[in-house]
Amino acid sequence: MRLSRAFLPTLKETPAEAQIASHRLMLRAGLVRQTSAGIYAWLPAGLRVLRRVEQIVREEQDRAGAQEILMPTIQSAELWRQSGRYDDYGKEMLRITDRHEREMLFGPTNEEMVTDIFKSYAKSYRDLPRNLYHIQWKFRDEVRPRFGVMRGREFLMKDAYSFDATAVGARHSYRQMFLAYLRTFQRMGLTAVPMRADTGPIGGDLSHEFIILAETGESGVFYDATYETTDWAGTSVSTDDVAGLEAFFNGVTSSYAATDEMHDEAAWAAVPAERRREGRGIEVGHIFYFGTKYSAAMGLSLPGPEGTTITPEMGSYGIGVSRLVGALIEANHDEAGIKWPDSVAPWAAAVLNLRQGDAATDAMCEDIYARLGDAAVYDDRGSRAGEKFADADLMGFPWQAIIGPRGAAAGRVELKRRATGERAEVSLEDAIARIRGG
Ligand code: ATP
Ligand code: MG
Repeated sequence: MRLSRAFLPTLKETPAEAQIASHRLMLRAGLVRQTSAGIYAWLPAGLRVLRRVEQIVREEQDRAGAQEILMPTIQSAELWRQSGRYDDYGKEMLRITDRHEREMLFGPTNEEMVTDIFKSYAKSYRDLPRNLYHIQWKFRDEVRPRFGVMRGREFLMKDAYSFDATAVGARHSYRQMFLAYLRTFQRMGLTAVPMRADTGPIGGDLSHEFIILAETGESGVFYDATYETTDWAGTSVSTDDVAGLEAFFNGVTSSYAATDEMHDEAAWAAVPAERRREGRGIEVGHIFYFGTKYSAAMGLSLPGPEGTTITPEMGSYGIGVSRLVGALIEANHDEAGIKWPDSVAPWAAAVLNLRQGDAATDAMCEDIYARLGDAAVYDDRGSRAGEKFADADLMGFPWQAIIGPRGAAAGRVELKRRATGERAEVSLEDAIARIRGG
């Protein structure tokens, strides 16, 4: 992408409405544009990050055996009456009436719809277990949308739903998602601590929230420092290994971690003082095992073995895909701007031409840009070098390949690593190899 032709609108001023760093930086770096309270348009750089986050989520869901579908955003009120949630959900639900006076709604979540779809096809217990997920926009009419995409009204969520024949099977499905979540967040370079959580209106008896530590987070958190030092996601246990996965899960959850809602002073006191960590965090994922709440309410029952009848045991598993973009910035920024982790960066590198119009400089920049292809943006604008540095720092590309007349004459590129500020003078070949290597 050539910046002279790109739609990557950066702002110099700090927008007054943004209270936290990630929101300010998302607006300043031109990632999103608010179109109504809590509703955002995604601009080219923001959309590329959103897509990369979504792809990591998708790959880890697939790897854990979940299967992707796509359910609509608009649902019928009728479905929600079956579970009893149409009246319970309250003002957060955006209710819509179509031209035939039929009551519809913009989905805040999909338990009812997925249960209804599964019910239409499942014939017997042999069709269990299954886990279906989608990545789709949700709408919740939050009282106080704030912090940009972190608490929006329209937001992108991955939600998965598991169906099992037995409670034992459902706990295994739950643990499969638990491990998939640890792997997902680690691939984004985030430390997400699984904390015991309240099951809230979804109901049920087993639930964890995955929380990223950040001072601006909305939840108070208490956890054992073990979560900062142990590479849980690096485990080689397979999600198909029932006993191995149970042992793994018990190992991870034996260390203390809870949000303020679930905090237990007695258990906390038992954690050695030097390992107690207290602070704030951002909820990026939430998993629930809720048994037969929806299957029973919606008439999903299947012939079991030997003349029995089975009401499938269910769980649901959410990840805030659009919230993660904000959370990633909250965890990776400095005064100058964003520091994207390699795995989610919109482009790996920016090629900065410090003397637009100088033949040798232009030629070298064109060469490296052509070879990096879609991995790089090329700052070929006529602006001053200082402006190019500031914009590249703000937009947070992991690498900056800086080329001026002196470097061009010597065949050298100044390569800057945004995360650490390290700089090195390298050949064109080395610069390309390092940028490609992440
Ligand atoms: P919160 O407690 O933050 O309101 P929740 O518990 O209502 O979230 P869930 O129903 O568990 O949310 O949804 C799954 C995930 O979707 C959450 O873990 C979060 O990452 C994301 N999410 C929920 N609400 C929003 C929102 N208003 N804006 C952006 N992401 C959201
Ligand atoms: Mg939640």
